[in-house]
Amino acid sequence: MKPLVEIQNLVKYFDLGGDQRVHAVDDVSLSINPREIVGLVGESGSGKSTLGKTLLGLHDKTDGNVSFAGQVLPQRYRASDFRAMAPKMQMIFQDPYSSLNPRMTVGEIVGEGLRLQPELSASDVQDRVAHWLQLVGLSPDHRSRYPHEFSGGQRQRIGIARALILQPEFVVCDEPISALDVSVQAQVVNLLGELTQELGLTLLFIAHDLSMVRYISDRMAVMYLGGLVEVGTSAEVFFDPKHPYTQTLIASNPEADPEHERGRQSTTIQGEIPSPVNVPAGCRFANRCPQAMPHCSTTTPALKPVPTTSENLQSQRLVACHLFD
Ligand code: SF4
Repeated sequence: MKPLVEIQNLVKYFDLGGDQRVHAVDDVSLSINPREIVGLVGESGSGKSTLGKTLLGLHDKTDGNVSFAGQVLPQRYRASDFRAMAPKMQMIFQDPYSSLNPRMTVGEIVGEGLRLQPELSASDVQDRVAHWLQLVGLSPDHRSRYPHEFSGGQRQRIGIARALILQPEFVVCDEPISALDVSVQAQVVNLLGELTQELGLTLLFIAHDLSMVRYISDRMAVMYLGGLVEVGTSAEVFFDPKHPYTQTLIASNPEADPEHERGRQSTTIQGEIPSPVNVPAGCRFANRCPQAMPHCSTTTPALKPVPTTSENLQSQRLVACHLFD
């Protein structure tokens, strides 16, 4: 199967002046197949959101390539590139409070992308907006209301309708549930899962909550300090993590079952994540890794295949750690 989205050696640095720069995304390669949901996890500051935004041209690329359906996308987007790609690739933003313009009605927000289709009449736009509001579980009567009249979960539904109304093939969901109450997180994830199935979408689902990512994703990619350290099916990575960082990340993830959680020893990742401005040589996790060896601080481990237990022959298990050399 040919990937829908192919990321090759993608680099995104932010210049701070002088010779200082933030290494937000450093040499990331990842393929996402059509109709696949890939979960991207890692601590805050690992570069997940920057990777998602760089994929969609919201940040210029420093180096490397992103291809969509075999077409290499520009290094720096112009307005015409955004117009050309908007019907194909979209983003659902993290914060449903700040990502909706408070001065626009819900109808104007959801229908904004349809301005790219000038052949649609005003009543066609109204009908489509009403249809999409219904699809995300809102009422067509909500068209004339403003974002502040809605709860966080409802606003995220408005954000989902806005992203999907152009029927894109690929959607980056940038922590779409982290600003929501726990009680509505599962509803929004279920809605995204149902729409993904129904519309045949391909998703990059960025999140902190590993249990939620395991629940919705086919594969999981783990990011640490700008680079990928492990990739595999969600079940493999969640239940049999190979990389020491993934192991500690999963061990520190709260369990949904309160009985189990009570009896579990709490685990936190020791030490501080190094600065992305002064990235250490060798393995970037070495200062926090309980299994570090002398050469870990000098030699960078490559992301390499390790044996997989998955029956999915398309799915490679990849780990960047000298324990698997
Ligand atoms: Fe730990 Fe070394 Fe593996 Fe890095 S390469 S995760 S320091 S064992």
